[in-house]
Amino acid sequence: MPLHTGRHFLQIPGPTNVPDEVLAAMSAPTIDHRGPEFAALGHEVLAGLGPVFGTTQPVVVYPGSGTGAWEAALTNTLSPGDTVLAFETGHFATLWQEMATRLGLRVEFVPGDWRHGADPEAARERLAPDTEHAIKAVCVVHNETSTGVTSRVPDVRRAMDSAGHPALLLVDTISSLGSIDYRHDEWGVDVTVGGSQKGLMLPPGLGFNAVSEKALAASRSAGLPKSYWDWEPIMATNRSGFWPYTPATNLLYGLRVALRMLDEEGLANVFARHQRHAAATRAAVRAWGLEVLCADEREHSGSLTAVLVPDEVDADEVRRVVLERFDMSLGAGLGRLAGTVFRIGHLGHFNDLMLAGTLSGVQMGLQLAGVKIDPAGVAAALAVLEQQ
Ligand SMILES: *Cc1c(COP(=O)(O)O)cnc(C)c1O
Repeated sequence: MPLHTGRHFLQIPGPTNVPDEVLAAMSAPTIDHRGPEFAALGHEVLAGLGPVFGTTQPVVVYPGSGTGAWEAALTNTLSPGDTVLAFETGHFATLWQEMATRLGLRVEFVPGDWRHGADPEAARERLAPDTEHAIKAVCVVHNETSTGVTSRVPDVRRAMDSAGHPALLLVDTISSLGSIDYRHDEWGVDVTVGGSQKGLMLPPGLGFNAVSEKALAASRSAGLPKSYWDWEPIMATNRSGFWPYTPATNLLYGLRVALRMLDEEGLANVFARHQRHAAATRAAVRAWGLEVLCADEREHSGSLTAVLVPDEVDADEVRRVVLERFDMSLGAGLGRLAGTVFRIGHLGHFNDLMLAGTLSGVQMGLQLAGVKIDPAGVAAALAVLEQQ
């Protein structure tokens, strides 16, 4: 690798760029996790998370990856042999349902083309005939990070209600929390799964479950084995600001600052900023003469854009050139999209000129990799950024 100067561009859709203020906060000395200073930290971050999830109900914070928080959502609410309904929106939805199967659940996996979100009509069609209520949970990935498609969760909720079905609604917001509008309470979600390293602007290492009353009630009779992920002892100790085991103290320092930053900008402004950067990115992609993977105008992701490359091009070669020449990391195509798309992350701690730099690197990289594009993409994006 050649020697690079200046800042690396980390434009994968998570982990994302960590603000200096967060890094500085995390470098403070670790404190006694059973002492009074810790309780103040615990209370502040637990209270501050509610608005980000759009909930007044408890949010459980784990030292763990998003994958761990997936497992927590399933094992706290379900019993061996229960059926869950899931949608093949992309790589992450596929991994989550594989986990459910491994845990001893039955999965009805609605097939998809990896260019659309969860289909509310398909949900209604599966739920309405299930008069015995064999389906215990509906699992939706809000923002499919492998495809750049955002599912319409309120429409899925309406489909469940119109079918009169009592299943729990479990939603993965790992790459939408703090970047795309999301409302746990208002949308009637039972468990919202989150992670620290995407819209929340932290390093990897925290997983979250926001828990509805109904999910909490389900957890009291759920039969899947759980120990580390068990909500009950965590919620009990959280009431006094603590955890039942050693929490990730320094990540919580970072979380405290990140939550203050989101609050200061205002969540509505945070969401609008992401939508605007996504629109500018799509303008660039289309001006280059390339195709955005998301095939439904209502479902474009605010946090990332997946770009299809022409058949004869290897998307990983484009990413390799961009990394080597311009010191920028782009997201790879995952699962069945390997080699056919690259993903531009535009979420988290980000601004207009960072996007301009990102798209400049992509445009130059495409040309250096020999992809036939119209070099009008960056100008098209700048025109969008100039407008508002
Ligand atoms: C990143 C991501 C995950 C996995 O999170 P890890 O922290 O890598 O375990 C799951 N779902 C979605 C939608 C993601 O973006």
